[in-house]
Amino acid sequence: MAKYKLEYIWLDGYKPLASLRSKTQIKEFKSLPKLEELPNWGFDGSSTQQAEGKSSDCVLKPVAVYPDSTRKNGVLVMCEVMMPDGKTPHVSNSRATIPDDPDTWFGFEQEYFFYQDGVPLGFPVGGGFPAPQGPYYTGVGYKNVGAVAREIVEKHIDICLDAGINLEGINAEVAKGQWEFQIFGKGSKNAADQMWVARYILARLAEAYCIDIEWRCKPILAPFNQPLDWNGSGMHANFSTKFLREKGGKAYFEKLMAAFNKYRDEHIAVYGPENHLRLTGLHETQSIDKFSYGLADRGASVRMPHSFVNAGYKGYLEDRRPNSAADPYLVAGRIVKTIQSVPTK
Ligand code: ADP
Ligand code: MN
Ligand code: MN
Ligand code: MN
Repeated sequence: MAKYKLEYIWLDGYKPLASLRSKTQIKEFKSLPKLEELPNWGFDGSSTQQAEGKSSDCVLKPVAVYPDSTRKNGVLVMCEVMMPDGKTPHVSNSRATIPDDPDTWFGFEQEYFFYQDGVPLGFPVGGGFPAPQGPYYTGVGYKNVGAVAREIVEKHIDICLDAGINLEGINAEVAKGQWEFQIFGKGSKNAADQMWVARYILARLAEAYCIDIEWRCKPILAPFNQPLDWNGSGMHANFSTKFLREKGGKAYFEKLMAAFNKYRDEHIAVYGPENHLRLTGLHETQSIDKFSYGLADRGASVRMPHSFVNAGYKGYLEDRRPNSAADPYLVAGRIVKTIQSVPTK
């Protein structure tokens, strides 16, 4: 028997942006516990905007388990928040709203900024700007990526891989201090579970460097929210279904895009706060009040990769609108719902 440190992770009830919360419970197991072996747990919902003080208990229901190589006998336990009956999802439980579909696959590209002393890492503290965008994307060298960002990113890769998270890659992004990682998962909830845990690992890792992760989509603005020539952060959602991968076809694709157009407002509503600041039509985005699709078009709402068109409108598509702060559960749920509204015949 060994004592395992179980880190129960959940999303709080803050709006418009839920934050990650976690706490440790120590329990004995013969070996790394499986999901079925992990008990429900509780927390004080009155401290997380999920309950009133007079009836404060919320339930944590484990939904996914990942080994945590940063701690001896460590385990990361992603949880859903349930009502005290343990069965009814709490209103803040966005995961419970995703239709279950093992054959829908998602690949999320998470962009984010490292922040220190109130500015993106590498920006002069106290005001002003570094050299303009250009050399930073996929850049190398101290003047482009600084001294510590790569160390954090490297550690993040290793902790994610140790956890069994399907991290597919990383890259330095267009703005200074901005980076990206990509996560892929099969199943309508899988990639989103992994994404929340990967976000958790990154935020926790950066603590020791006195660095925060800025998930907001357009942190660098002039006064009065005027955009400057600095990119925002997205969380592009690449998706495919069994039908799209195996049959697809131009007629089906056009029906699907008509549905994406019809439900444009419903999509934008869950694609992350402050997205109007990012989806301006500039910096590789379509503007927030338009819907468009295009071949290899990074100024479109939905991009068809060349591979998709070459295969006869078969494969995966990229919805470029979700932003870096969006809840991947809400994004995945909305995309699945819109897909399900379109008959495949
Ligand atoms: P880019 O930066 O050019 O938009 P990336 O290489 O960063 O592209 O990301 C491509 C994403 O597409 C990855 O997250 C990958 O997991 C995802 N992806 C690839 N194939 C599929 C598929 N069949 N279904 C869903 N997502 C996919
Ligand atoms: Mn990318
Ligand atoms: Mn990117
Ligand atoms: Mn992309």
